[in-house]
Amino acid sequence: MPATDVVVLDPGEVADSFGVLPTLAPVAAELLRLADDERASLEDIARVIGRDPALAGQLLRVANSAMFGMGGTTTSLTRAASILGLRTVKLLSLSFSVVTRPNPADAGATLVWRHTLATSAMARAISARRNPRLADECFIAGLLGNLGRIALAEYPAYAGAAGGPPAWLDTADELAAVGCTSDEVTARILDSWGLPPVLSDAIRHRSEPSRADGVTGTIAAVLDVAAAAARLVVAGPDEAGGALEQYRAAAGRHLALTAKEADALLVDAAPALEEIAAMFRSENPNDVPLDVLLLRAKDGLARLGLATLAALSQEQHRTERLESENRRLAAEAATDALTALPNRRAYDDFIARTVAARERRAVPGVLGLLMIDLDRFKSVNDTHGHRVGDSVLRLMGAMLALHSRRDEFAARIGGEEFAVVVPVTDPEEITLAAERFRRAIAGEVLQTPAGALRITASVGAAWLDDAEPQAAQRLYDAADAALHEAKMAGRNCIVTAHAD
Ligand code: GH3
Ligand code: MG
Ligand code: MG
Repeated sequence: MPATDVVVLDPGEVADSFGVLPTLAPVAAELLRLADDERASLEDIARVIGRDPALAGQLLRVANSAMFGMGGTTTSLTRAASILGLRTVKLLSLSFSVVTRPNPADAGATLVWRHTLATSAMARAISARRNPRLADECFIAGLLGNLGRIALAEYPAYAGAAGGPPAWLDTADELAAVGCTSDEVTARILDSWGLPPVLSDAIRHRSEPSRADGVTGTIAAVLDVAAAAARLVVAGPDEAGGALEQYRAAAGRHLALTAKEADALLVDAAPALEEIAAMFRSENPNDVPLDVLLLRAKDGLARLGLATLAALSQEQHRTERLESENRRLAAEAATDALTALPNRRAYDDFIARTVAARERRAVPGVLGLLMIDLDRFKSVNDTHGHRVGDSVLRLMGAMLALHSRRDEFAARIGGEEFAVVVPVTDPEEITLAAERFRRAIAGEVLQTPAGALRITASVGAAWLDDAEPQAAQRLYDAADAALHEAKMAGRNCIVTAHAD
């Protein structure tokens, strides 16, 4: 008797069920037709784009972005189209029509969305350095590369195996769960839309670029490295280390980069990442939110008239914007803008809450605080300039986040001073934690705009085993005094003290 009920989905059918949805805006469809017409001029293209203010706005934003090498203020669509090129305009228009920002409440979709944006930015940054001719293709392949995931997420067998948001399956797990890969589904969707086969082939070969040759193989390789880098962007604190390893491995395998070179590539790509995030956020109030509009098409809303749709999506857009604005403001108030670590205020809140919880519940173990201050940081600014100093601080923030454990809390509490709250059972562990951070900082070669730099830090560590209302201040003062001693002792060292 057959004991298995393995679900096997046919990628073609999955693609069809996605492809028949009216995801192409009329303007995008017209553009697709025009761009196949060799006689179509830039003016013709600009005229069609001009009929869709949202699309026009987005294209102008792209043309004016530093990422596309302009950084100017082009307000003419014809000029934008000539900057970007016909082919890129066509593909971008199409991408903007189908790459849709999800409802912020949908954690799984938001994850896929962030991964998509990060992949496309990374793909463009990587290819801009290595294969400039293919930069736009790589960018578009990144933007469209997760469509298969979105299509498959509609199937319970896939969503179930992915285990709820954040829903994510690697290629091997996809095959085990539904017998096909999301890359194959993506490729079929793109084929059904009549996009250039080089895009779908590259996506098809993403997990094994060496099997494809020429341009296809190159885009596939860039795409795989970019997708691995993007996993870093969406990884939780526990996954970050593994994600970095995988990214470096992919960069080594496909682009023959050393770990150091791979890390430097990430640093270079960071501005592109911010830029693409900005590109998809529409500030223009006249902007018909094409992204939301087309996303809703998937929910069947497209069966309503277009006018109704536009009204609906505008309303929705407004609500989403308000909600996310409130969330953004709250997060912003607690976050250090330079390093993205919690700021001094967030640290104060956190330590107050931690001490109070200890008072109430008599939590066993001791509470430790590390005060980490960069050594002779002023000379970094003096020698290389403030911008490089900022880059070092940003990298420090990333390192502290990377090296702190789940129950540790790292914050930037001053210029080049960081604090890490360390709850442990034994005071000796505080010293171990202090040494872990000191060693990590001293051992890292930082890739900055001025090239590779090394820096050390001194660590003052303090701990207390009781909690009363003054505990937070006591702990802080003791750690600060220990830090001072570490500086006196010659820097790049740790001093531990009992806060009593
Ligand atoms: P020490 O080993 O004694 O800690 O020496 P130091 O040079 O690190 O210490 P000092 O406190 O004299 O200098 C800290 C410097 O940090 C001074 C200031 O210019 C710099 N700094 C503080 N905040 C920032 C920032 O946000 N960006 C940059 N680039 N520099 C900053
Ligand atoms: Mg200092
Ligand atoms: Mg210092």
